[in-house]
Amino acid sequence: MGPSTASLDDFRAILGPAGVLAGTEAGDRYLRDWAGDYRGRALAVLRPKSVAEVQAVMCLCRDRQLPVMPIGGNTGLVAGAVVRRDDTATPVILSLERLNRIREVNPVDFTLRADAGCILQTLKEAAEAVDCLLPLSLGAQGSCQVGGNAATNAGGVNVLRYGMARDLILGLEVVLPDGTLWSGMSGLRKDNRGYDLKQLFIGSEGTLGIITGVEMKLVPRPARIETAYLGLASFADAITLLARARHGCADLMTAFEVIGAECIPYARSAHPDLALPVTAPVHVLIEVSCSGALDLRSMVESFLAEAMEAGLVGEAVLAASEAQARAFWRIREGLVEGQMRSGYHMRTDLSVRPSRIPALVDAARGYLAANHPDWTAQAYGHAGDGNLHFNAMPPATLDEAAARATGLAIETALFAIVTEAGGSISAEHGIGRTRRDRFWTGLAPVDKRMFVAIKTGLDPDGLMNPGCVIPREEMTA
Ligand SMILES: Cc1cc2nc3c(=O)[nH]c(=O)nc-3n(C[C@H](O)[C@H](O)[C@H](O)COP(=O)(O)OP(=O)(O)OC[C@H]3O[C@@H](n4cnc5c(N)ncnc54)[C@H](O)[C@@H]3O)c2cc1C
Repeated sequence: MGPSTASLDDFRAILGPAGVLAGTEAGDRYLRDWAGDYRGRALAVLRPKSVAEVQAVMCLCRDRQLPVMPIGGNTGLVAGAVVRRDDTATPVILSLERLNRIREVNPVDFTLRADAGCILQTLKEAAEAVDCLLPLSLGAQGSCQVGGNAATNAGGVNVLRYGMARDLILGLEVVLPDGTLWSGMSGLRKDNRGYDLKQLFIGSEGTLGIITGVEMKLVPRPARIETAYLGLASFADAITLLARARHGCADLMTAFEVIGAECIPYARSAHPDLALPVTAPVHVLIEVSCSGALDLRSMVESFLAEAMEAGLVGEAVLAASEAQARAFWRIREGLVEGQMRSGYHMRTDLSVRPSRIPALVDAARGYLAANHPDWTAQAYGHAGDGNLHFNAMPPATLDEAAARATGLAIETALFAIVTEAGGSISAEHGIGRTRRDRFWTGLAPVDKRMFVAIKTGLDPDGLMNPGCVIPREEMTA
């Protein structure tokens, strides 16, 4: 199926020639997912420059009954913005990349209002310019867009203190599937006038409407930041330390990352010059920050001394400079990069109550050792939020097709383990297409009924990102 010449011309009439990419112009940047797991297809890539253009495109798509798949920075990790080979619909891709104007930075109200296509890093810099912090921080911040962050309810490394995107979004502006503009950007922190409609679109993964504008909360920029890299004996000690650290650091902790030592070779492969501060089986990276004139360093030093005396922490290095703090973070970021560079591997994004992390790690490691002893476990994550990435690297001897088939079986077993532990198969990354069927199978009938009611209520023709989150057949049942 392809669009008639007339419909491409109609899109060009709305967007101008540069606003429509078709054929070979629509390359991997839009069609391949970040991890390289999928290569999709599209009738065309549409690149509106204004909200009015988004509305006009959506009206035309509704008239022609063309499915629409929004795309932001294309850093999503669950194939939310790429169709799979077994998807029946071939959509137009609607890229927000040219809708990228900062509308207002307000240091009095502590708010930032921007077009959805703004890159997160650009917005963080705009906040810094007025001595504020936009506290959403993730490895992909140089490429992901704030509209994509809203659509995926992104988390990142500072959730412990500031919450996920949902906690940071004050307002949204959305073009509905029929082209109607809904504006919910009042900037109000308190507003109990009935349903909080923006919540429907946060985490909706492009299935309910096109987010065109986002209003984010800012906080005062931290004046002091302390970063410590610790060596511990076990994940259990790390979780005991977490609760102590919250008390001991006056609840000013902005990050608590845990890294199993088995991940370090991958960090080294990304950064061969890596200087490792500790040698323990489990590493913890703590960041504490405040905007006032507190003596943060003394507080962290005395907390660490107590934790070492209690036998919870074996080794501890408190960064002596910003450069050393950066070097600590390079270890955490490098291990993800190193794993990605190594080629296909099985990745998860699980969450449980933080107190259950040690049992989850033990169960996952135990499963892998018993059933796939030639695969290598990798356990790390935003443990302060109960978020564990438990990944598994295939043996070098296995060809990619076989590794993918086994990887799927491992992932399904881990999903069963985390569900049994009362956790989630998707802490941050969403459902997309990668996890859709297993997510849907595990959903209670009452949840399914509400999902379908919301979807059909807002998108009665089922044109918004079909096949993402909800299986298509559920829409016609
Ligand atoms: C190196 C790396 C590190 C990462 N770290 C984290 C992390 O710590 N925490 C975390 O939560 N995620 C993380 N991610 C995942 C990813 O960066 C986030 O999900 C991000 O929020 C996606 O934004 P994006 O603009 O790239 O969206 P895309 O990938 O383009 O799209 C993601 C989904 O949102 C929809 N969408 C995008 N824009 C819009 C819009 N304007 N309106 C409606 N729907 C839209 C798409 O249809 C798709 O379903 C990471 C990814 C990478 C590559």
